This record gives sequence, structure tokens and C-alpha cells, in this order.
Amino acid sequence: MFLNGKTALVTGSTSGIGLAVARVLAAEGARIVLNGFGDATEIERLTDELGAAHSAADLTKPDQIEAMMAEAGPIDILVNNAGMQHVAPIDQFPVDKWDLIIALNLSAAFHTTRLALPAMKRKGWGRIINTASAHSLVASPNKAPYVAAKHGIAGLTKAVALETATSGVTVNCISPGYVWTPLVENQIPDTMKARGLTREQVMNDVLLAAQPTKKFVTVDQVAALALFLCRDEASAITGANLSMDGGWTAA
Ligand code: NAD
Repeated sequence: MFLNGKTALVTGSTSGIGLAVARVLAAEGARIVLNGFGDATEIERLTDELGAAHSAADLTKPDQIEAMMAEAGPIDILVNNAGMQHVAPIDQFPVDKWDLIIALNLSAAFHTTRLALPAMKRKGWGRIINTASAHSLVASPNKAPYVAAKHGIAGLTKAVALETATSGVTVNCISPGYVWTPLVENQIPDTMKARGLTREQVMNDVLLAAQPTKKFVTVDQVAALALFLCRDEASAITGANLSMDGGWTAA
């Protein structure tokens, strides 16, 4: 188990992609710190399953991020994954939702990164993996803050990779296309409303329309790439934006 003795913090890991990443890192021996919201009994089941700790920090709040990082101790693998979505045209976009999406999908990664890096540099080893999105490379209508935040995290990834290039720390982002998780399922009703479409039309003509393979990416596929980035064989990969989008951004 090549991650024995390492500690991994995966933000937004009570569901979806983050949970799948936490599972593969735990299976290779990493001590896991989960983060995210959800049903208390289900979270307890997950911490038991993975032998993990859990932080309920709300990552839109920098003081709660600082408390989470202090409690977690030195982190070897930081996976900035927590994210949210809201779908509306820009001139009707709720201002509070803009602020929340930028705080969670972009600024939270700045805070965890600045707080985790000193220990990684001291050890001469670290992995920072940011879950970006195909929306870090291309836009879709009605998702302005999400697209802005994801383009932002791709830029943050590059900047931190350059700053850490000689330190044994690698910094990359993974950019999935549509992955079948609650985040995608929950935006279907808003997209139906915004575009006047049925559920089937949103799935086939909006979501999978962009994905040439016509298949959703799976959480296990994203997790397998994150795990590879933790290997020594991946130590030359830094500052990369790795697409896993069924050909979406090739078009
Ligand atoms: P999800 O909704 O299944 O999981 C989101 C996680 O974030 C949950 O654990 C939730 O509790 C947590 N979370 C939400 N708000 C939080 C907050 N304020 N503080 C702390 N945790 C919070 O979503 P997912 O689809 O697994 O998405 C994970 C990441 O992948 C996001 O950054 C998302 O933008 C990105 N992504 C998803 C897709 C997709 O199609 N599902 C595609 C590309 C990128």
C-alpha cells in the first residue's frame, strides 16, 4: 500500500467524486480526513468504513477552513474537490449565489493550499489535486460563476505548480466532463426551467450533447486518475489540467 503513513484531506468527500477519491486513497493506506455535509448517520458509516476523520467545516467560510486545517494536522495529499452549482442567466443570477460559488469553488482552494503547503515543503513531498471541470476550459450559458471559478482554479493550479516546482510537491487539476453525481442530478430542474425543456431533453440535448462519447464519466474513473497523480511515476506531472471529458473539449 503505497500511501501508508500519508494523510489525505479530501474536501467535499461525503458524496460523489470526493467520496470515490477518498475510497481509493484509503485503500492504498492513506489516513483520510473527510469533509462535507450530509446525514449524520451516513457520515458515521463512512468514517467507520474508511477509518477516517470528518470535518463538517463550511468551506465558504475562511475561519472554518483555518479551524479544519489546524485540526487535521500536516497534510500530504490535498484534494480540493468541494463544489456547488447554480444555473441562471447572468442578469438574473442571485448575488449571494455568485459569492458562495466563488468562495467554495475557488477561494477555498486558495485557503487550504496556503495552509497545507508549508508542511509539504518541509517534508519535500506533497500532492495537491484540484477538481476543476471541462468548464475550466470552455463555457456553457447560465453558469457564469461556476465557469469563472473553474477557469480560476485552473489558473491557481498553474501558479502554485510553478511556485512549488523544485520542492517535491506537484499541483494539478482534473477536468471531468459530466459525471453522474448529485451535483449534476440537482441542476436538471433549474436547467429545465431556464431553457423550457423536459428532463430527457436536458439529459440528452444539454448535458450529453457536449460529450461526444454520449456517456457520463464515472466517479471511479476520476478517482483512478487522482490516485495515479499520487504515485512517484507521476512526479513529472505538475501544473497540468488533465481532461477526462469524453472528448468534450476536443470539439
Ligand atoms: P456532489 O454534490 O456529489 O458533492 C459535493 C460535495 O461537496 C459534498 O460532499 C458536499 O457535502 C460538499 N459541499 C457542498 N458545499 C460545501 C461547503 N460549503 N463546504 C464544504 N463542503 C461542501 O458533487 P460532485 O459532482 O461530486 O462534485 C465534486 C466536484 O467535482 C465539484 O468541484 C464539481 O464542480 C466538480 N465537477 C463535477 C462534475 C460532475 O459532472 N458531477 C463535472 C466536473 C467537475
